[in-house]
Amino acid sequence: MSELDLVVIGGGVGGYVCAIRAAQLGLRVALVEKLRLGGVCLNWGCIPTKALLQSAHAYLLARRLTEFGVQVKGTLEVAWEFMVARKNTVVGTLVDGVQNLLTGHGVQVLLGTARLISPRSVGVTLADGSRIVLDTRHVVIATGSVPARPPIAGLDLPGVLTSDQLLALPGVAPQGDATPLRDLPRRLVIIGGGVIGIEFATLFSALGAQVTVLEMLPRILLPVEVELARRYRSLLKKQGIELVVEARVEEIAPAGKGLMVYYQADQQRQAVRADLVLNATGRVPFSEGLGLDELGVIRERERVQVDERMATNVAGLYAVGDVTGKSMLAHVASRQGEVAAEVIAGHDSRMDYRAVPYVVYSLPEIAGVGLTSQEAKEHGIQVEVGVFPFSANGRALTLGETEGQVRVLCEPGGGRVLGVHMMGPGVSDLIAEATLAVQHGITARQMATTIHAHPTLSEGVAEAARAAAWGEAIHFMKLRSRR
Ligand code: NAD
Repeated sequence: MSELDLVVIGGGVGGYVCAIRAAQLGLRVALVEKLRLGGVCLNWGCIPTKALLQSAHAYLLARRLTEFGVQVKGTLEVAWEFMVARKNTVVGTLVDGVQNLLTGHGVQVLLGTARLISPRSVGVTLADGSRIVLDTRHVVIATGSVPARPPIAGLDLPGVLTSDQLLALPGVAPQGDATPLRDLPRRLVIIGGGVIGIEFATLFSALGAQVTVLEMLPRILLPVEVELARRYRSLLKKQGIELVVEARVEEIAPAGKGLMVYYQADQQRQAVRADLVLNATGRVPFSEGLGLDELGVIRERERVQVDERMATNVAGLYAVGDVTGKSMLAHVASRQGEVAAEVIAGHDSRMDYRAVPYVVYSLPEIAGVGLTSQEAKEHGIQVEVGVFPFSANGRALTLGETEGQVRVLCEPGGGRVLGVHMMGPGVSDLIAEATLAVQHGITARQMATTIHAHPTLSEGVAEAARAAAWGEAIHFMKLRSRR
């Protein structure tokens, strides 16, 4: 095989986007994936959880149908098996799509496990056991992350799963011998009140499970604007989810047909019973077995160190996505993949992390971008905060989803939008406008005076910007404060 321009190791959202972009820029590219194209995000992360959450949402809406004037005769039931089948169909469609995009762009896709022999040659053990060597001018490492395994006794017990395992596809196990979850748990205990913990708590509670979340820190959802995390905490209670903060899980032990989870809280050892335990204590970059140390690639713990062009300290070697440990978000991985491809193709591209949106797919959703009020406080940055509640938004009322609010943080005097944080219906999409504003220095005045279609949820963003700029929204009164 003649020399390639680029070998990408790992076919997740960082790696496959990198490969496509590089091919678009005229490079000869091969991509090596050991399990499934699409990686965690498509197969056992972002996409499957959102498919299942949509089923949960449909179920919750169906239970409220009379509110919308729709009478249902008969009973409503959760059919977990069909929800999982739908999720698998969505995942399959996207994975096939990625395969088609890669081959359509002329990327050579190899199913196998790669190891670097030198910065310019990659050994690949193919799925059938045969081995080949790829000669290449550049390599991008995009090997992702794996669930963290904190020192909790009993993490290996049957019935204790990670999100990867819980969402396992038939016949494909990301780690160990996970088999897809056949039945809904009655009592689910989730270790960790981060994004994964809260998304799964929302899902299984909506489907009828009794859910307990045990979080070590005094608060949940650490990166989220503090006021929204606080409001969401009271909603968790309303949804029947039990949350215990400052609870450090120490041990899981078999108890009859189920499990007992032991944790320290209020200086006491306490216990809660479960028939399923989800370990959602974070993820760690995966960079083992690639031969990186032999090549002198600098890592900090497992994180491959990269500069703003995604280059490692070894010439020709790049890394993108979770393996860099920069920000374990799919959209960051994809952008890093594009930057690496462009740099390799000779362009002057760099990563810019100023406006990275976050979304929590809880019910209701939470999303944000840019400066939070706690960061403003810590750094002594003076900001105006404009707030607009969805209860005063016409579209939210027609949807029957009025919980939540938009918070816009801007420079005093209606200046540049520094951060936008929201909880409510459709905020995972509304955050795009805010991201554009933060990234490009749009002012709160400009945001407020841009015509937003009526009636839409997006008017809530313009109204919060108006409240930040001039102290008053049109459809809600007196919600500005100087911080
Ligand atoms: P996380 O770091 O967000 O949360 C893990 C939580 O577990 C922390 O709050 C931590 O304090 C807690 N914890 C750790 N050990 C504990 C113990 N022994 N007892 C009790 N609590 C303990 O990690 P995550 O939620 O697992 O998510 C992993 C990564 O995946 C994150 O980087 C996240 O951003 C990403 N992710 C993003 C999305 C999204 O963008 N919607 C969805 C899922 C995951």
